[in-house]
Amino acid sequence: MADEQEQRYDPAVIEPKWQQRWATDPRLYAAEPVSCGKPKYYVLEMLPYPSGQLHMGHVRNYAIGDALARHMWMRGYNVLHPMGWDAFGLPAENAALKNNTPPREWTLANIAAMKRQFQRLGMGFDWSTEVTTCMPDYYRWNQWFFLRMFERGLAYRKKSKVNWCPECATVLANEQVVDGCCWRHEDTLVEQRDLVQWFFRITAYAQELLDDLSKLDGWPEKVRTMQRNWIGRSEGAEVDFFLAEIEGIGNREQGTELDELIVKVGLQGLDDGSGESRTRIRVFTTRVDTIFGATSVQLAPEHPLVTAFGAQDAGLKAQIAELIEEQKKAREAGDVGAIEKHGVPTGRFAINPYNGERVPIWVANYILMDYGTGAIMSVPGHDARDFEFATKYGIEIRRVIAPHDPGPQEPPLPFLSEDGVLVNSGEFDGLTCSDAQRKLQQIAELGAFGKGTVTFRLRDWGVSRQRYWGTPIPIIHCERDGLVPVPDDQLPVLLPPQVEITQQGGSPLARIPEFLSTTCPRCGGPAQRETDTMDTFVDSSWYFYRYPDAKNDQRPFEPAIARYWFPIDQYIGGVEHAILHLIYSRFWTKVMRDLGLIENDEPVRRLFTQGMVIKDGAKMSKSRGNVVSPDDMIARFGADAARMYALFAAPPDRDLDWQEDGVAGVSRFLARVWRLATKYAPVARSARNQEAEPLSGTSPKLVRKLHQTIAKITHDFEGRWHFNTCVAAIMELVNEIQAADAQLASGEVPAPVIRELLRTLVLLLAPFAPYLAAELWEELGEEGSVLRASWPVSNPALAKEDEIEIPVQINGKLVAVIRVSAGATPAQIEAAALGDEKVRSRTAGKTIVKVIVVPGKTVNLVVK
Ligand SMILES: [Zn+2]
Ligand SMILES: [Zn+2]
Repeated sequence: MADEQEQRYDPAVIEPKWQQRWATDPRLYAAEPVSCGKPKYYVLEMLPYPSGQLHMGHVRNYAIGDALARHMWMRGYNVLHPMGWDAFGLPAENAALKNNTPPREWTLANIAAMKRQFQRLGMGFDWSTEVTTCMPDYYRWNQWFFLRMFERGLAYRKKSKVNWCPECATVLANEQVVDGCCWRHEDTLVEQRDLVQWFFRITAYAQELLDDLSKLDGWPEKVRTMQRNWIGRSEGAEVDFFLAEIEGIGNREQGTELDELIVKVGLQGLDDGSGESRTRIRVFTTRVDTIFGATSVQLAPEHPLVTAFGAQDAGLKAQIAELIEEQKKAREAGDVGAIEKHGVPTGRFAINPYNGERVPIWVANYILMDYGTGAIMSVPGHDARDFEFATKYGIEIRRVIAPHDPGPQEPPLPFLSEDGVLVNSGEFDGLTCSDAQRKLQQIAELGAFGKGTVTFRLRDWGVSRQRYWGTPIPIIHCERDGLVPVPDDQLPVLLPPQVEITQQGGSPLARIPEFLSTTCPRCGGPAQRETDTMDTFVDSSWYFYRYPDAKNDQRPFEPAIARYWFPIDQYIGGVEHAILHLIYSRFWTKVMRDLGLIENDEPVRRLFTQGMVIKDGAKMSKSRGNVVSPDDMIARFGADAARMYALFAAPPDRDLDWQEDGVAGVSRFLARVWRLATKYAPVARSARNQEAEPLSGTSPKLVRKLHQTIAKITHDFEGRWHFNTCVAAIMELVNEIQAADAQLASGEVPAPVIRELLRTLVLLLAPFAPYLAAELWEELGEEGSVLRASWPVSNPALAKEDEIEIPVQINGKLVAVIRVSAGATPAQIEAAALGDEKVRSRTAGKTIVKVIVVPGKTVNLVVK
């Protein structure tokens, strides 16, 4: 008998042993070449930012992906399961300021530390394809893509209002402004500044980004909805109102279609329709059917016409300046929609092109110059915001839409439904809203005063950052030639290794003369480099295309390799990336397709968003001081227990409430498995060369449980992903095996059957507890890596809860046959017999003296 110490499950011994062995076999987790002929499976978890420490949210994310990768390896797929580092970004600069460590050193040290943690956790990543986005061999391709986009007009510069975080001292994308504050500095209000910035023309793909969402049926509906809303397509019409002051009746051609139309709808006062000499105010509306209810036109404070009015009227100019200031403040607070609405009448009038009506022109603080046309028609009877404004300023409120079946009382205004008919709309009375929209739009087109149009909420992607730690933008500014692209053969434009990081405004690169000064590739004269760097979301927009061909120094990747691996079969990450990362990478994929590099339209076939890890009622975070360190959990319970708990404690898509008792519980379960397997390992080894017969000698219940467990886990890996119930099912299976311990120990169960039972148990555990599975696989005398062993196949006939027929006799005479499940207990059989229709009618009014149940055979009733 070995001593107590040796009899204990000890992950501190088992896990480092296997970690070392795996480290000497880099091919274990490596993908095979495209030519291997196997079906491929690309499973990917979102790459981490190298903060220096993994947290439990990471552990959960990667435990899900790693379980899936291992399962697919065992199913015989050629699996790609890579890992990399989203290594550019601000925290490295902040750390440099704080600790006086250069960003590069800080980042690379963090990567090394986190890589050690990954390896200790036993994650099956193919490190030969590792991608580190801050390294020149990667970011040179960011620059290469930038140049391709520049050539196609997809990268361009414009002066624009930008979100400026004073704390970051850089520009933020709209997506990085959360409730008016910086996404990194939750307490810092974002300011608006005017700057010349680089943009990617993502809006050129707005319609396709929207349309293709319908193809992504492997994505969570909530993510698709978020993207749909973010793209924000709205159909409507643009219509020109005319400035009344410059109105003049021209000589229009009599008898034309336009002329008849003008006469018909009473467009008196409009002239030839050429519009050349008339000042037009173009408004955008989604409800042109309500245009007869427009009782004012409202302009953004920064509308050019407003500027023109202000130039003629000093009092008005001052009021406009106030409105501009109010709007700026509201923008900085992040919600112009919530602004307290103010407006100023200009004393001017606009003419409604459909009825020639003069309506007052107002300037309002909630109208944005960069949305739509910067002008709206205000229809207070049928728009809540317009109603609020008109009520405040006493502007007429007019009903022009009525319900189809007007009741005895008219519905109160504002009446917002589009399910109605037009009233008070002249010629168009009685048309339904949708018919009127179509018709009025056609008239606008005929009359050349408007058109049907589509607008998007999506804006072009601002990629300029005035920071050091990012990809330099490969453009040279020449006084003679303007913007000159850096030639491809001069890439990469290297980030200078040392720079003094300060929090002064402006790009740090502009303060490095050796970087800044260069010669123009076109004229050879002195020139300056662009000093902005790229948004780090550029890095993560295409990194997963680099993995399968990470060492390529001729192109970003080989198209044939991408053709094999894409789209990604399963992508796993947090739902917080639903908008930024996942829209940008979809855009990037479409650009690469149009460059002829890839054939897929979408990068990701299936997306899974896991829940958060919560402790003491809050998301784990350093600032809350409720972080659980994976290192600590590993030291106390082992990596297998920590990983398996992360899968077991909650369905993966829900939030997980971290309970240390739970980890301890999983650890105790793994110890039970270890004891069970090691106890019978000699028997299993002895049966290695014997044919496994059908599972004879064991209870039908155990056989059924085994096959049910195989079926359940296999099914869950195919998309349900209820890994918590998978682990629970393995626990039940272990209970069932232990309940049969007497039969196992006595030899009643043949050795090949014992081997089959334990072998299958280890195979089922392998995706969840890789260290223990490897150890027991070897212990059972099995050859090769458990990772390359075939995943067990469930036999549906054996998994079925089969029923048996049992005859029921009353006083020795057969009266009925009942059906019960094969595993039914005597009490269950008795209850089924007494509940049978025929038995009940034969015993009605009599006394049942005795019930004799012979399990699996008969039920005898003695009745008087
Ligand atoms: Zn900030
Ligand atoms: Zn030049």
